[in-house]
Amino acid sequence: MTVDASEDWRGNRIGILGGTFDPPHLGHTRMAVVARDALALDRVFFSPAPHPPHKSDAETTPYAHRRAMLELAIAGEARTAVTTIEESHATSYTVDLLHACRERTSADLYFILGADSLAELSTWRDPAEVMRLATLVVFPRGAETVRAPEGREASLVVFESPVVDVSSTEIRARLSQGEAAVDGLAPAVARYVAHHRLYARA
Ligand code: ATP
Repeated sequence: MTVDASEDWRGNRIGILGGTFDPPHLGHTRMAVVARDALALDRVFFSPAPHPPHKSDAETTPYAHRRAMLELAIAGEARTAVTTIEESHATSYTVDLLHACRERTSADLYFILGADSLAELSTWRDPAEVMRLATLVVFPRGAETVRAPEGREASLVVFESPVVDVSSTEIRARLSQGEAAVDGLAPAVARYVAHHRLYARA
């Protein structure tokens, strides 16, 4: 295994927020900070998926840009970091991500996700193993009710707020219409997007 020495995996309680982050937005950072503080997490790692299972590479912004935007989105935020742990993974399955985390730490793992993702858990690769490896920390999204998979309530932490009504899809759509400052996008990320002409209409 290759371990990036700049990543600090010390601590007993580690949060992981996996996603596409195309681009990262306030919903992502807010969930991480709320979970970090409420659950006394030593660190929350954001793990951008190089090859999200449900999206083609052609429709996804290159990994290096998404990673760089994440770094900007969390700059100055305590006990948060970006991990490149998934960079070598051919497909970005959560179960593989969590196994890779387990190789680096024996800490309790908390996988942070939105209610929309939880609703799709049964379609993930090896959901039982995902729930064995980590406690799921679920945040509401839109009007979606957070419902624990049957018999799995014990490995779930459910937050009823905050609801941060923003999505990467909506932000991409607004950016492609030429909007520069979009709600839900950190100013430094907005500047990066403009500089690299990401999401501009072709
Ligand atoms: P897209 O619109 O492109 O699907 P997204 O906004 O859902 O993107 P992702 O990077 O796919 O962002 O999401 C990563 C994780 O963060 C997922 O678990 C998703 O449910 C969760 N998430 C994203 N935005 C929010 C939000 N506003 N509130 C709660 N959870 C969110």
